[in-house]
Amino acid sequence: MMLKAQVHLTLPVWVHEAVDATRAHPSDEDKVALAIELSRRNVDAQTGGPFGAAVFGPDDRIIAVGVNRVVPHTCSLAHAETMAFMLAQQRTQRRRLNEDEAGNSLGPVTLATSAQPCCQCYGASFWAGIDHLLIGARSEDVEALTEFDEGPLPADWTGELERRGIQVRRDILRDRARGVLADYGQLGGPNY
Ligand SMILES: [Zn+2]
Repeated sequence: MMLKAQVHLTLPVWVHEAVDATRAHPSDEDKVALAIELSRRNVDAQTGGPFGAAVFGPDDRIIAVGVNRVVPHTCSLAHAETMAFMLAQQRTQRRRLNEDEAGNSLGPVTLATSAQPCCQCYGASFWAGIDHLLIGARSEDVEALTEFDEGPLPADWTGELERRGIQVRRDILRDRARGVLADYGQLGGPNY
C-alpha cells in the first residue's frame, strides 16, 4: 500500500443547518450551550462521540465548531476541541488564534467545550492561542457516565493554563452536559 501524505477531516453535514454563524453568543452559558447542543446532535445523528466544542472571537461570534469524529475518520486526534481548533486556524489562517503574524493580540478568543478536555485536548489548548476556556461536564462525569478514559492531567491543570494566560471556568450547564453523556452511555456506543 502506498505511503499516505495527507489527511482529510470533516464535520458532519448537519453542522451547516445546526449552527447560525451570524448569531452572537454573548454569555459563557450561551457559548457552552452551543457546545452541548453539538454534542447532543452528534449522538443523535450517530456521526461521532458525545462531545462538542466551539471557538468564539472577541465579538462573541463563532469562528469554528467541532464534534468528535474519531470513529468515522479512524483518527484518535479528531476530538471536538481539536477539530474546532484546526478549523478555526484554517479559517483565520492564524496558527495562534489570538495573535497576528507580528504577535499583536487579537483576542480574547474563547473555546467552549461540552466536557473537560482530555489530556490530548488539554495539550492542544496551550498552543492554539485562546484566552478563555469554558467547560460543561467534568472529567469525572465523563468517566462515570461513559467508558471514555480522559487520560492523565497535572494535579493543578487549571493553574497551568492560567499561568499561561488562559482563564478557565468550569461546571457551566454541567447537568445539561451530563445528560448527553448519560444518554450516550445508555446506548452502549463504541469508545470514541
Ligand atoms: Zn480530547
